Amino acid sequence: MRGHAQQQHGQGEGQGDGNHGDGHVHDHHGHGASACGGHAVSVEDVIERAERLCQARALQFTRLRRDVLAAVAAEHKPLGAYDIAERMSAPGRRVAAVSVYRALDFLTEQGFVHRISSRNAFVSCGHEHGAGVGLVFLICRTCGGIDEMTAPAVESALDQTLAGAGFTPTSRILEVEGECGACRGRGDALPDEASRA
Ligand SMILES: [Zn+2]
Ligand SMILES: [Zn+2]
Repeated sequence: MRGHAQQQHGQGEGQGDGNHGDGHVHDHHGHGASACGGHAVSVEDVIERAERLCQARALQFTRLRRDVLAAVAAEHKPLGAYDIAERMSAPGRRVAAVSVYRALDFLTEQGFVHRISSRNAFVSCGHEHGAGVGLVFLICRTCGGIDEMTAPAVESALDQTLAGAGFTPTSRILEVEGECGACRGRGDALPDEASRA
């Protein structure tokens, strides 16, 4: 019973607005990483923004949708639907994964969360960017943390490549795995733990 009308939101409105010109990193890390310009976004901010946008788009921000978004926003790592369901469940009150999936569909369509394909998991989007904007996710294999970036230079190069191939993308989300600056810094600072058998 998912309203297909909802899907029309976000598709056309993207290009142009919300793209701030130069790429910047949005930090999902909870730990106070060094030299990290990202401003931490609180769960309250994420919920408040979603509430505001749902109102503007005449969409229902149900209790379930709110709770799912809060669970995702509280975590700096991508969360799977079953993990979310578990977190929301209390003794005597089980939340079904299928309900969580339905809420995640809505939240993804509205751009409040992003799906990380390589993890089949979700992160909240703590900032505003257009629906059509290209995104780069930096996924740390050491701490599991994830950073979201807009990268206009990458985006325009990708657009050219795709146009050259006559290919029309439905999304332009890149996922890059590696080691984040905080983990690398930590490895350098603790030589004892740097020895990897
Ligand atoms: Zn985002
Ligand atoms: Zn890391």
